[in-house]
Parts: sequence; structure tokens; C-alpha cells
Amino acid sequence: MGIDLFKQKFGYEIEGMWLPRVTAITSIISKFPFAMRGRRGIRERLEWGTDVHEFVGGMMRGSTDAEQDPRLIPIAESLMIWQQEYEVKLLDPEHDVERRVHDKELAYAGTVDMVAQVGDRKGLIEIKTGKQLVGEYFLQTAAYFNALVSANASGHEYEARWILRIDQYEECEGCEARRRRRGYSSFLDGGLDICNHQWGQPKADFEFLELSEYEQDLRAFFAAKELWEWTNRIHLRKIINYPKRRAV
Ligand SMILES: [Zn+2]
Repeated sequence: MGIDLFKQKFGYEIEGMWLPRVTAITSIISKFPFAMRGRRGIRERLEWGTDVHEFVGGMMRGSTDAEQDPRLIPIAESLMIWQQEYEVKLLDPEHDVERRVHDKELAYAGTVDMVAQVGDRKGLIEIKTGKQLVGEYFLQTAAYFNALVSANASGHEYEARWILRIDQYEECEGCEARRRRRGYSSFLDGGLDICNHQWGQPKADFEFLELSEYEQDLRAFFAAKELWEWTNRIHLRKIINYPKRRAV
């Protein structure tokens, strides 16, 4: 891979520096559940993740664009319940969704899904789509939280990191198999092989989780970063404006 492509793929240019993306770094420990079954459907799942992010971000900012996709309807309903139940609000809707954060000294950057107030505490919320949480998320949110706090120009006191996991599926009315439609692919889970599935209405499951063990997760992120830097040292040494170039 050429150096320009490498820079574009794995980092951001910020204030004259090139800083690697948090998600590029954490991909070093990536164990997406679907990776086990080969590469099938990865693109579709990533696209679905992007669609959900855009939809949730739009809803949180108060845009009520009627969506054509019936799979988003149960997500919209659950999102309203979640927002009420946990008293979630954005303090600065213009800047609180997809907020770019970076840490110059530690040399990384990333994009936080949402900075929000939940009840009476402020923090960041990462949105994840899929059946389960993976270890990568703990490292990612710790890195974002550290950057958010260390570059805190607005004077807010951030206290927490949360994950909002949104799983969207249809369930068979006979055998309770679950079908997740992503792009042109669909993925079946559970149920009976012999069933002539009757798929019900699209549903959405939510899980809202506060992550503890911040210090430990952040240490693990830095360990992952070191490993990522070592793995990519040939490229990184060529990036003149990478602040940590001399150390790799
Ligand atoms: Zn069935």
C-alpha cells in the first residue's frame, strides 16, 4: 500500500498533524462475530451500521425525516422510549453528534457518535449494531473519552461512557428463528431448519450499558496502539507529520 492511501485509510489530518484513527488502532484486536464465518456480508453489515448511525443521529438532532425503510420504524420507536427512560438529551445538537476528538500528545483521533447528558451526568455514547458487544468497543470508548476530556474546551464535566446497542431483526412466528436483513443478504439465527418460517414485523432490541473500568480499558488501548504502531512501523516512519514518528 502506498503511503498516501495508508494515510487516507487509517488517519485524519488535524492541525497540520497526521493522527491515526482510533478504529484503525483497535482493529488490531478485532473479532467481529461475523469474521468467523468468512467475509460474507461484512460490507452489508457495515452499510447497515452506517444507515443506523445516520438515522439515530438525525433523530437525536430532532429531524423527523420519514424513512422508507420499514426496518428503521421499530428503531425509531425504541429510541424514543430509551430517550425518555434514561432522560437523554444533547446539549449542543449541532456539535454533539459525530464529534471529532483528538489527543495531540498521545497522537490519535476519532469520531464520537454522541456526546450527551444522561440523567444528570454527561458523557459519550457509542452506537453499535449487532448481536453482541465485542472487546474492541471498550478500548474505543476509552480512547474517545480520554480525548474528549483532555480537549475539553467547553468546560463540561464528562463522567461516563455508554454503549447503545441496537439489534434489528424479524422473528419467525413458528420457531423463533431470527432473520437479520442487511443489504441484499440475510442472516438466520436459531430456530428450526425444518420450519417453513413465517417472518413477523421488524423488531428492534436495545441494550444501554455504562462501561466501568475506564483506566484499565485505556491502558489496553495504549497497548493496542503500540502493537498497531509496531505492525505499521514501515509506513509510519515515512509520515513526516506523525507526531510519534521518531518513537516507532
Ligand atoms: Zn421458523
